[in-house]
Amino acid sequence: MSNYPKATEERSKELLENVNHILDQITSVKSPNGRPVNLVCVSKLKPSSDIMALYDAGFRHFGENYVQELVSKAQELPKDIKWHFIGGLQTNKCKDLATRIDNLYAVETIDSIKKANKLNSSRDASKPKINVFIQVNTSGEEQKSGISSYDDLLALAKVIKNDCPNLTLKGLMTIGSIQQSTAAGERNKDFDQLTAHNEKLESDLGTTLELSMGMSSDFEQAIRQGSTSVRVGSSIFGARPPRNGH
Ligand SMILES: *Cc1c(COP(=O)(O)O)cnc(C)c1O
Repeated sequence: MSNYPKATEERSKELLENVNHILDQITSVKSPNGRPVNLVCVSKLKPSSDIMALYDAGFRHFGENYVQELVSKAQELPKDIKWHFIGGLQTNKCKDLATRIDNLYAVETIDSIKKANKLNSSRDASKPKINVFIQVNTSGEEQKSGISSYDDLLALAKVIKNDCPNLTLKGLMTIGSIQQSTAAGERNKDFDQLTAHNEKLESDLGTTLELSMGMSSDFEQAIRQGSTSVRVGSSIFGARPPRNGH
């Protein structure tokens, strides 16, 4: 018998209903390229017992925003979970991510050569490579992280591909503006921008890349515009508690 944290039967049922509803929505939307869409369950600020309820139903991709929280959840939960770090990343936290989570599947918020190099140099070559998404600031909002210009994006992508043997360039990621995500019935300009950058980058590098875009409020539109990985939190787990002091 395992000692993993366990949700109540009622909570498990609720989570499974929610996640199955999201899966239904994902399959009912037409993706332009016909590629499969991966669901990342964003469990930040939610208890490990919630994660286990979904894990027991076969889900493996979970997203977290805070390094400390991710490290402690990764320590107590099964080692075949595929963790995605999707939070704002400081260079001085790259080492913790690289060294303390062997089953770190992806870091989705790389936006500088410095961070890529730090993550790469801290990762032991004997451990699985870390998939990396380059975060693109598609909305031009100053408070958002991410790379804005295509030239910077290409330069970073080349460094990851050529100089970072412990990383794998997996794709591009955007968060997009709230305004775009709630503009009903229209194409989302942030998603269009990410897709445009991606087409150029794929052709310049000669590789196929993933697109991580779409959250609870806009994942269906994101899939219509080519997303291959959606990050859904509150529609599965419910509203989040405020983070300490925020
Ligand atoms: C919190 C978060 C999500 C999930 O947001 P929801 O609106 O709860 O689905 C997705 N992506 C990032 C980068 C996040 O920080």
